[in-house]
Amino acid sequence: MTSKSVRHSDPVRQTRSIERVVAGMPTSDGAGVKLTRVLTQALQRRLDPFLMLDAFASDNPDDYIAGFPDHPHRGFETVTYMIAGRMQHRDSAGHEGLLENGGVQWMTAGRGVIHSEIPQQEAGVMEGFQLWLNLPARDKMSAPWYRDFAASDLPHFVTDGGVGVTVIAGESHAVVGAVTREATAPLYLDLHLPAGARFAQTLPSGHNAFVFVYRGELRVAGESLPENRMAILANDSEADGVVIEAAGEARALLIAGRPLNEAIAQYGPFVMNTEQEIYQALNDFRDGRLA
Ligand code: MN
Repeated sequence: MTSKSVRHSDPVRQTRSIERVVAGMPTSDGAGVKLTRVLTQALQRRLDPFLMLDAFASDNPDDYIAGFPDHPHRGFETVTYMIAGRMQHRDSAGHEGLLENGGVQWMTAGRGVIHSEIPQQEAGVMEGFQLWLNLPARDKMSAPWYRDFAASDLPHFVTDGGVGVTVIAGESHAVVGAVTREATAPLYLDLHLPAGARFAQTLPSGHNAFVFVYRGELRVAGESLPENRMAILANDSEADGVVIEAAGEARALLIAGRPLNEAIAQYGPFVMNTEQEIYQALNDFRDGRLA
């Protein structure tokens, strides 16, 4: 939490409405980590440039202990946000880092990495999120890149209404986030709303946006959004942002970005534009050319 400055709410004249409430799908990934896939493959077009959002929250080590052993990625970015617990990552280039308690790892897989993500605890609560952000076609084969941000590295502010805002990406109320990206202009906010609070965020109407509530319950344009649900926000052409209201204490992620409007070809951890590029990724992985 680098900044405690009070910021006045951006004026939003008209809020977007909720187009659809999504429950997500319980699934498991890696070596059997139990999670909820909030943003599934079926929503990749609608929520372009975002490809996936997984939420994991458990106090049962059996649900997370095996983690995600060595696996490849190509063609997109992963953003891992740990609320509680500790996760160690290692990649084929010899990089290593520990992600814990409010920290973020931003990884651009680009042309390819092989990495592992392994919990560093045998008990206690493990909670967090992994978002997949697509890369434009011209950047899919760029050099891999990553950075770890401790909670204290992430820009943070409090609105005059008492809402705590962590700006992981993009810009909110003139506070610039830890990461910015030109092509997709991602906005990634973690919002802590006290009871009775209201939070307004301007959003370009062409950007796709969604809210995931992970504590409590919210209201958007008079409609209720229950805990552990994602609201896809309508791209209302007359709306200039979103206004989120909380009757009780609540926490939520607000995520938005500019759609790429390019073809999406996904096979597991590879997200390219054509099937041919997917075959190439599989061949490169098999022949050890990915890392
Ligand atoms: Mn991974």
